[in-house]
Amino acid sequence: MLYTSTRGGAPAVSSARAIVDGLAPDGGLYTMEPASIPKLDLSAMMELDYASIAAKVLSALLPDFSEAEAKDLVEAAYRGKFPAAWITPLRDAGDDLFLELFHGPTSAFKDVALCLLPHLMKRAAEKCGSRDDILILTATSGDTGKAALEGFRDVPGIRILVFYPRDGVSAVQKAQMVTQEGRNVKVCAVEGNFDDAQTGVKNIFAAMPAGLSSANSINIGRLVPQVVYYFAAYFDAVRMGRIEAGQKLNFSVPTGNFGDILAGYLAGELGLPVGRLICASNANNVLTDFLRTGVYDRRRPFHKTLSPSMDILISSNLERLLYLMSGDSALVAGLMQSLKTEGHYSVPAALLEKIQSRFCAYCCDDAGTKAAIGQVWQAERYLCDTHTAVGWSAAQAFGKDNGPVVILSTASPYKFPAAVLSAIGAHCDGDEFAMMDALEKETGVPMPRNLRGLRDRPVRHTDVTAPADMLAYVRAKKAEKSWAD
Ligand SMILES: *Cc1c(COP(=O)(O)O)cnc(C)c1O
Repeated sequence: MLYTSTRGGAPAVSSARAIVDGLAPDGGLYTMEPASIPKLDLSAMMELDYASIAAKVLSALLPDFSEAEAKDLVEAAYRGKFPAAWITPLRDAGDDLFLELFHGPTSAFKDVALCLLPHLMKRAAEKCGSRDDILILTATSGDTGKAALEGFRDVPGIRILVFYPRDGVSAVQKAQMVTQEGRNVKVCAVEGNFDDAQTGVKNIFAAMPAGLSSANSINIGRLVPQVVYYFAAYFDAVRMGRIEAGQKLNFSVPTGNFGDILAGYLAGELGLPVGRLICASNANNVLTDFLRTGVYDRRRPFHKTLSPSMDILISSNLERLLYLMSGDSALVAGLMQSLKTEGHYSVPAALLEKIQSRFCAYCCDDAGTKAAIGQVWQAERYLCDTHTAVGWSAAQAFGKDNGPVVILSTASPYKFPAAVLSAIGAHCDGDEFAMMDALEKETGVPMPRNLRGLRDRPVRHTDVTAPADMLAYVRAKKAEKSWAD
């Protein structure tokens, strides 16, 4: 299995090279040929532990890694970072099934992939013959930076430097980053907004020679680890008696960049009986409109919502679905060009029909999000975060007549304490840290360990730079032999 660009303008590469390079040179995303995806033998996987399931999925989609090698990497990646060896528990809450993806070191689902990516990247670089250290650069609007720092910390041969907008992240997010531990990590505030930080990072990639890489979600190495938990959830649902082995299972996925839900599609292509993939959006409902009409139109107001990780108008990974379902890179290249120059595109009717046979879409605004949190708490004593609530609301709209639905739960409610507190009818006048305490008192749901005591942890990163000085900053840091204190 080789990886080709979704836009057809770059040579095919190995799975290892696709991980090391991240983005294809023609601007497309490295994706496997749809016909090259093998079918896995489910009966042989049903009783396996999480790492063994992961090994089968990884080596099927990234054939440069043997199953035994993949298993070692998975075990090394998650050891000590997740509380249990079964990484993603399925919770039975009354009528609903929640797939909890947030038990990692930063309490958001991105941990599942970002803990594994460094190990895949390091081994992939070795397979490609590279001996040099890799420097990961990331600009973050909050959550990705912290998850990447935790994933890459203390991984030999790799250093990671995260830029965040000084006044653009929440108090909790800032505390999570500036207290980061690890011998290979740096965190630097940028005097500007997220766009300034992001533009600065792009300029550095353009200006500096090799040795840099990115932890961005366009990397196939970030997508594949997410395929695993669809299998884990399916087997759990069978064990709980919610479905018969072989029966189709639907998944409702709170969606932003379309990475998580695309992983569900790939699980289906590998042979998992995936029913409908329900794409759940907030008020930024560009995907809802697309999946219903075939017209993708980003020319619309941008809403800042209570589920900020889904505030996205350009869903990068949708490009991969278009390629996987059409097999037509010329078509995809044309659509992406049209999106760039005109802000919209529409797909041929036959392709839309194919997409709609696997996906459906619903959206809900902030009022609906809060109502959902309140309702689930009242009815089931299950506490959802704001993103998960959007997924629950979509599952309700989908209805109960279409078979069981697993709702992907993508963050701990403690990451969004203000919205969650008010949604369950409680109140607190203090700052975000006080609200976290209040939420624990009110609900009795334990706060994740990594967020407890965050306010009092020592600050380890105080660097600040102007956007114009970011390149010089990176050059200086890269020249330092070691970042260990
Ligand atoms: C990133 C994120 C999402 C969206 O996932 P995509 O893969 O971008 O679709 C949903 N919920 C949370 C909490 C996230 O951090």
